[in-house]
Amino acid sequence: RVLVFGSINMDLVAKVSRLPVPGETLLGHNFTTVPGGKGANQAVAVARLGIPTAMVGRVGKDQFGQELLQNLQSDHVQTDAVYIDASNTSGVAIIAVDDNAENHIIVIPGANGNVGEEDIERLIQQLPKASVLLLQLEIPLSAVQQAAQAAQQAGVQVILDPAPAPTELPRELYPVVDIITPNAVEAGQLVNFTVDRPESAAKAATILQQRGVKTAIIKLGATGVFCATADESFFIPAFSVKAIDTVAAGDAFNGGLAAALFQGYSLREAVIWGAATGALSATKAGAQSSLPTRETFEAFLQE
Ligand code: ADP
Repeated sequence: RVLVFGSINMDLVAKVSRLPVPGETLLGHNFTTVPGGKGANQAVAVARLGIPTAMVGRVGKDQFGQELLQNLQSDHVQTDAVYIDASNTSGVAIIAVDDNAENHIIVIPGANGNVGEEDIERLIQQLPKASVLLLQLEIPLSAVQQAAQAAQQAGVQVILDPAPAPTELPRELYPVVDIITPNAVEAGQLVNFTVDRPESAAKAATILQQRGVKTAIIKLGATGVFCATADESFFIPAFSVKAIDTVAAGDAFNGGLAAALFQGYSLREAVIWGAATGALSATKAGAQSSLPTRETFEAFLQE
């Protein structure tokens, strides 16, 4: 199956005409709580494509924690290895969105920030049943490093989404990653020059490979995806869709990529699966609410 080791959050979203200035109180129009966190989003993306998926991470011993677990289970994500941490709150993102879709976001990692040794042990127990591990950067970097190392030793393919954008990654991390999947901004941060087109993505990919990753996949939004391995490099243009909200498009891409690799497809086919899942998620509002089911996915590829 596919394992995801990462963050689980509840997003608290307030809609307001304009964002408040410091010290100001405003009335908003509406409030929703929606499950999020890059780890959980990627797990749901894989599971919706009909692939057996398990999550390893932490929620708090609070109402959000219960809701987050139930939410994962309702999408058939295994949660046996999600620890309920009584010493912290569940991770939350407090989000204000105005009428122009500008936002303010405060992320409180909560239990995600406690992910460490004990969770690595739980992950190691799951590795023999897994073929792909998805990682992101919303849990402590030391845990990401250890997870990647353990997975590599167990012969499990490691996919790292270096998001949210880090200024730098430790050099020891690159050699234990099979596939790194930055978007344009994240790639730019990692290599210190602007990445916006296939040409600059190709340069960035070469640098990431020199640092030790086997394959670099650079997500260029509505442009497409650049991919470089030791043997080949190629560009896949984005599917043409009517995009309304690209929230979680990157998570959708990684879910589609992992689902295809789990099924034994080639890297090129897996990038196409990622691009299709990303494009579909851009056609619907929200994060997990925008992730396609296998049925929707197959109908889209038949078109
Ligand atoms: P992130 O969401 O991490 O910023 P991107 O915006 O690059 O990442 O989106 C991830 C992938 O989703 C893209 O590489 C592409 O395959 C797909 N995608 C995103 N936006 C669009 C769009 N407007 N049209 C078609 N595909 C898209």
